[in-house]
Amino acid sequence: MNPHDRLSHVKAIYFDLDDTLCGYWNASKAGLRKTFELHPVVGKSTDELVEAWGHVFQKFSPGLKDNRDLYESYLTSGKETRTLQMRYTLEHLGVSDADHAERWSECYMEQRDAHLVLFDDAKQVLDSLKGRYPLGLITNGPADIQNQEVDTLGIRSYFDNIYIEGEMRVGKPHMEVFERAALAVHCAPDELLMVGNSFGHDITPAMEFGWATVWIRRDSDVPPSSKSGLPEPVPTEGPMPTMIVSSLIEMLPFLNR
Ligand SMILES: [Mg+2]
Repeated sequence: MNPHDRLSHVKAIYFDLDDTLCGYWNASKAGLRKTFELHPVVGKSTDELVEAWGHVFQKFSPGLKDNRDLYESYLTSGKETRTLQMRYTLEHLGVSDADHAERWSECYMEQRDAHLVLFDDAKQVLDSLKGRYPLGLITNGPADIQNQEVDTLGIRSYFDNIYIEGEMRVGKPHMEVFERAALAVHCAPDELLMVGNSFGHDITPAMEFGWATVWIRRDSDVPPSSKSGLPEPVPTEGPMPTMIVSSLIEMLPFLNR
């Protein structure tokens, strides 16, 4: 089925937040640099500190959900895991200083938020679709940080439904999240569209549940820990999204409700 036919069935649209609507990794990188400039480590450049943070993030982040107590804490507030990540970064550099880790953690949270911006195409697409479709947000991450992002960006009023991993105590790609989102707008799976940047968290599960999908691939979608400096590659086999776009504007001609 071509995108026009597939998207003509859509009655409600859900968006992911980070690196779909706003530049999370851009904000993260700018926030880290500012933090390390304001609170340096003797003998280390800002580049070295960002690299150390990325190295530790690659090891620390994937196992987070396996540590039950830590994951429970993370769902409510990003503070404990963020501060641990800073402590491990310092330890990786041979520095043991809990107070410095606390300062970094607080400063990074503030600076990342200060650098968080809505993409121009996201603003245009939300303005265009608001009132024509029920719109929703499905975002993974701690309740405090995700709510802070929504308010910093000033986008809360666009959405009829906002689902945050920290508030639901379950996140994408879990089926429960998508079922709950579908139920809220009384739509069958083929009447729903998921728009997201993560193939594994947004696109694959939505395809599995029968939703239409728009996969946004942005050049800026690169974590500080990336070795390649490139966004997530397009898979060479398996089911493919309804559309792959580099700007959200590209899907508007197909959504003419
Ligand atoms: Mg995302």
